Amino acid sequence: MTTPEKLAALLVERHGLKPPVNIEQVLREYSDVEQHEWTQDCDGFAIFGGNQSRPRVYIKANVPARRKRFTFAHELGHIVCYWHTGKKCASIPNPGGAALGTEEAEANSFASHILLPDSFLAQFQDQYLPAPEILDAVAQADVSASAGILALRRVLLPGYVFLVPGLDHAVVSTGTYVPPGAEDYSQLAKFSGRHPHQGSLIRWYQLSVTEPLPATLQTSVTTTEMLRRALTAARPEENVSSLMKQINGVVGGTLTRTRATVSAETIFAALEQRFRNNPLYEDLMATDEFRRYLRQKSVDVAQKRVSRS
Ligand SMILES: [Zn+2]
Repeated sequence: MTTPEKLAALLVERHGLKPPVNIEQVLREYSDVEQHEWTQDCDGFAIFGGNQSRPRVYIKANVPARRKRFTFAHELGHIVCYWHTGKKCASIPNPGGAALGTEEAEANSFASHILLPDSFLAQFQDQYLPAPEILDAVAQADVSASAGILALRRVLLPGYVFLVPGLDHAVVSTGTYVPPGAEDYSQLAKFSGRHPHQGSLIRWYQLSVTEPLPATLQTSVTTTEMLRRALTAARPEENVSSLMKQINGVVGGTLTRTRATVSAETIFAALEQRFRNNPLYEDLMATDEFRRYLRQKSVDVAQKRVSRS
């Protein structure tokens, strides 16, 4: 966790904040807030430090309500991030788009973490909930579609893609494999659709879905050995050790993104999407041995997590 994220979590705890967070009220506890109409792009700014006894925040009044809520949170971020200096102008129409200065990025991260606390987003981190259900639940936070869906990237399992009007790039959950240059996500998805959310129509794609796993035979063969045999059979010409390293890297990275779940089916779904859409592994996914390895690996990891919890 970065310091701005920790500070946001601290305020969430101190003020007992739950979505929809009354962010204007919280900001007013830390500053004097004035709202004015103006025509410049700047959504708000805070004046603090120096001889100023209490920070003063100016918020542009003539913007949509949800965007203004994000600006309240953003300016609060500048005030509580004690190393921020001077007078900052918020510009947040495309968070994650154009590169922002460090302090601006930190204020945005703080805003995301106070309006959508980790404790609130945790409900989405351990299972493949249908995207429309997730969007409906996130709507409770009363933030814009882009702010809410970008925040979901913090917790969602691999395999979700969202197209949000106004954002110039797809929002892809971490650990999702999307072939370079892919434009038609429906080709890659198991389910897809459109869902109204915060006044926008969101296109969503789920590349993973939890399905029951076939019963695995009890085997005395380790997953390492299963993988070695699968690779030797599928690619007799190749150096198996380096191929194993490569596969272990992909598997390990994807498993990290499934930390919160103890379900073998869910873990398998995450791993499967990582290989299924990648042309590099097409031949492996076509073999029973490799798929059996992925299933056994998922079962083993799930069992380990259960016994540890
Ligand atoms: Zn700012």
